[in-house]
Amino acid sequence: MLTIGLTGGIGSGKSAVANLLQQLGASIIDADRLGHEAYTPDSEAWRQVVAAFGEDIVTAQGEIDRRKLGAIVFADPDQLARLNGIMHPLMAGMVAERKARLKADGESVAVVEAAVLFEAGWDSLVDEVWTTNASTDAVVERLRQRSGLSEEEARKRINSQMPAEERNRRSDVVVDNSADLAALERAVSDLWQNRVKGKVHQGNG
Ligand code: ATP
Repeated sequence: MLTIGLTGGIGSGKSAVANLLQQLGASIIDADRLGHEAYTPDSEAWRQVVAAFGEDIVTAQGEIDRRKLGAIVFADPDQLARLNGIMHPLMAGMVAERKARLKADGESVAVVEAAVLFEAGWDSLVDEVWTTNASTDAVVERLRQRSGLSEEEARKRINSQMPAEERNRRSDVVVDNSADLAALERAVSDLWQNRVKGKVHQGNG
């Protein structure tokens, strides 16, 4: 099985590329979703996060209040590092588990979609890394349309992340997504035909 790590900046088109790859036959492991699942009451992540941040972040229903936790960690880089120190290794375990299951099911291509692939060190869990890249102007406009973010807010979020240049440099494939969705579809389809298919036929992984 070939495992592709898919990352990219906020609003750069990770989900759009993941959807296209899924249509072409890949199985998607969505790190965002794993993060939500990890917070299930009384799970290992739940226990460690509550032990670290206190019962105040637990709702009456016993769930972790992501808004409260977010307010704590986004106001203080040390607290964010502490949360990541708990969650990233646990989520790496979940990614490895999903990968093993997909392989046992006979899948040939798995895609690990994760905004923080490099920051969390999950690039070591995949065979190659693809990064979506779009011009800042295009991302600002898409975030305005999708989330109603002002230009200032959008630029702030973009600037709070790993610089695109660094992400691109560390990736095997950079998928340009500055043009329209039809162009993105052509680019992904080309990569599938000319890169992925060859690797899968070679019996990778
Ligand atoms: P995030 O990390 O913020 O979840 P993402 O990297 O997964 O974002 P998408 O959700 O795929 O990015 O794209 C961001 C928004 O831009 C979405 O509303 C999507 O429909 C839109 N979009 C993506 N690619 C294009 C494109 N080429 N042309 C126009 N709109 C696009």
